[in-house]
Amino acid sequence: MRVGGKTAIVTGARRGIGRAIALALAREGANVVVGDIGREDCQKVVDEIKGLGRRGLALKCDVSSTDDVEDMVRRTVAEFGRVDILVNNAGIISYKPFLELTDEDWDKTLNVNLKGQFLCARAAARDMVKNKWGRIINIASISSGGCGIAFPLIAHYTASKGGVVALTEALALELTPQGINVNAICPGAIDTDMAKGVKESGQLAQVLTRIPKGRLGQPEEIARLVVFLASEESDYMSGSAIVIDGGWLTT
Ligand code: NAP
Repeated sequence: MRVGGKTAIVTGARRGIGRAIALALAREGANVVVGDIGREDCQKVVDEIKGLGRRGLALKCDVSSTDDVEDMVRRTVAEFGRVDILVNNAGIISYKPFLELTDEDWDKTLNVNLKGQFLCARAAARDMVKNKWGRIINIASISSGGCGIAFPLIAHYTASKGGVVALTEALALELTPQGINVNAICPGAIDTDMAKGVKESGQLAQVLTRIPKGRLGQPEEIARLVVFLASEESDYMSGSAIVIDGGWLTT
């Protein structure tokens, strides 16, 4: 068991990549809190976690709400005694030309994708420092500028994910000396509801020509990387942004 006996919180875990991460961590021995803005279906994931012989807890949590996030961490500690692993996975995307982006588009995306990760990391790390051990894993994107690339129609999303990579480095600097490793994962195109837009727009074939692997990634492939970063195997890693994209960034 690579994370046996640990307690993990995974946000946005009722479907998609978050669900795969929650189940992978449970398979490797962790008890898992399944947090999501919609509580329906969270319980189904918890039932699957219980089927793997672990404990789970379904919590309604809008990651952009300070109250919800602090309540999620408080209830996790009340139920399991501590927080060991936080996976900041919840995220949203929308598509619009830059010149048509509204203040609301910008604020909503930044509040969920970036402020949400800040709020969850702050609340969880306040518990982790007491135990001098923790893992914070932030889900960013190859669409994050810097080491990644920019795509049209998602300036707000790209800015939020670039912020996630920068936040990861800043947190690693402050928290690593206190026993908390902080890393980011930058996925390429992963086969979830979020990738539906690409499929429905008829652009999938064209996108695949740019991915040397010739296919979309699967949520479970991201989950395996999360398990590695959550485990002792990655003890010397902190402050990294790891690209997992089937080779897309080489093209
Ligand atoms: P997804 O299928 O759309 O799932 C996102 C999950 O986040 C949903 O369960 C959603 O809840 C939840 N969520 C949305 N807003 C929330 C909020 N304010 N508070 C709590 N939960 C919230 O997306 P995904 O593809 O699994 O993506 C997961 C993460 O990977 C995201 O951060 C995304 O940006 C990143 N990513 C995805 C891809 C990709 O190609 N799929 C590529 C790069 C990065 P509801 O179901 O209730 O809406």
